[in-house]
Amino acid sequence: MHMPATDSSATITLSSSTQTGICVAMGDGIGPEIMSSVLRILTESGAQLDPTTIRLGKSVYDEGVLSGVEPGAWDAIREQGIILKAPITTPQGGGVKSLNVTLRKTLGLYANVRPCRSYDPFVPTHFPNLDLLIVRENEEDTYAGIEHRQTEEVTQCLKLITRPGCERIVRHAFETTRQQGRSRITCMTKDNIMKVTDGLFHSVFDEIAGEYPDIEIEHMIIDIGAAKLANDPERFDVILAPNLYGDILSDIAAEVAGSVGLAGSANLGRHASMFEAIHGSAPDIAGQDLANPSALLRAAVQMLVHIGQGEVASRIENAWLKTLEDGVHTADIASEQTRQRVGTQAFTQAVIDRLGQTPDHFPAVAYDNQPATVMEKEDTPAYSVLPTRKELAGIDIFLDWVGHGRTPDMLGPALQDACPLPLKLKMITNRGVKVFPDGQPETFCTDHWRCRFVPAPEQSLEPRDLVLLQHSLLTRGFDIIKTENLYWFDGEIGYSLGQGE
Ligand code: NAD
Repeated sequence: MHMPATDSSATITLSSSTQTGICVAMGDGIGPEIMSSVLRILTESGAQLDPTTIRLGKSVYDEGVLSGVEPGAWDAIREQGIILKAPITTPQGGGVKSLNVTLRKTLGLYANVRPCRSYDPFVPTHFPNLDLLIVRENEEDTYAGIEHRQTEEVTQCLKLITRPGCERIVRHAFETTRQQGRSRITCMTKDNIMKVTDGLFHSVFDEIAGEYPDIEIEHMIIDIGAAKLANDPERFDVILAPNLYGDILSDIAAEVAGSVGLAGSANLGRHASMFEAIHGSAPDIAGQDLANPSALLRAAVQMLVHIGQGEVASRIENAWLKTLEDGVHTADIASEQTRQRVGTQAFTQAVIDRLGQTPDHFPAVAYDNQPATVMEKEDTPAYSVLPTRKELAGIDIFLDWVGHGRTPDMLGPALQDACPLPLKLKMITNRGVKVFPDGQPETFCTDHWRCRFVPAPEQSLEPRDLVLLQHSLLTRGFDIIKTENLYWFDGEIGYSLGQGE
């Protein structure tokens, strides 16, 4: 492999059929330092790579490109399908989109896989036997980034959980668990509260688990699961979670393992994959030869295993483990075990010097040269399409209505008066709590009212009735800010009940 120049416009192409084309993004802050270090190690280890440098991050944002991705980079990414990415700096505000979220969603990188293990006693941790894998859904949930300010007082973020999204990530978790010789998956959700969205994730997990009788399963509510992960992480093998919980859990796991500076992550999809450190661009230590390149190096090892260069990956990981054992440490992991406290460059050289050696304390790794197949398996369905019978059951109409001095007991009768048959007002909630009929005086109310209308007794409902209701409310001066139709699917309720409904 030739190292790409740090000039981000440079493209290096070598013509060897055994080489795998990859895109390399040098990143911001400590990014260029740790990427140069990793590329040196890859070169010295004999990795068969054909890198093309692409420009992502701060310099691109500074040119006014709000996605942070240099427009020409998409062709290279599409062509190579593999990205090794150093951390970038995300500018605050100004309509700027998170580059990571853009890359993950645009490229369909639906699985985020983060191995976390401890390197005790060389990196101090309370949990010497920690060795777990976090599989995080990477595209959906609140990270769909659909947010609105709806009234003077109220904002909302849509949490989208889809059946295809759940099926893909759950299947990926089971396949990866099998491939890695692991035996147990713990799925974490909050489906005691979010029965529809998290409930779907949990039920797809239970459903697909039936196809993998060799793998033990359990489910935990996310709050107790996170507490157990912080206090007793050695009990876990594989953790599977929707996007937001997975994001938080993976940082907890990396931290309790010893350092977020040691964890790499793979973002995998059917058409592309991206490998990166989990930490950020650390502008506070940039340019000082202080950064630990280990997390990015471990991401590069994941990449090599993924593309079928397991032997080289093993050489690098074993040399890296030996370096840790020999007490050659960067400042962030320095402890009593440190014999030589070094900077980025000296650490890099120490790993290169140990290529070909194996660790004494840790078991040596030996990855095979089989490319990862989880994504490509012919028999892995994209997702199953389930035909359902959908019945209209009513409508939630959200109103902006200034409540101060005006009570739900004023709003309720006014809406009842305005509601034409076949509908009737069933209830009004404020922030999800029923306030009409029979609300409690202590309930705090904002200016955002969810008004649920359902068919009156003996009445059947047509879609046009929902429009007539809205027309009636508008003519009486109500400020409708949003509506949600209510449905039953195959006889099962497709919406949550209000608290107290
Ligand atoms: P950070 O991870 O960059 O830094 C947190 C702390 O850890 C700092 O004290 C830093 O010096 C230290 N640190 C991080 N990596 C280190 C390493 N390899 N070696 C030694 N010490 C290390 O988090 P932050 O300060 O919250 O974020 C800085 C920037 O990075 C922000 O712009 C943020 O948006 C961005 N960020 C990018 C990514 C990514 O590109 N994947 C991820 C997280 C944050």
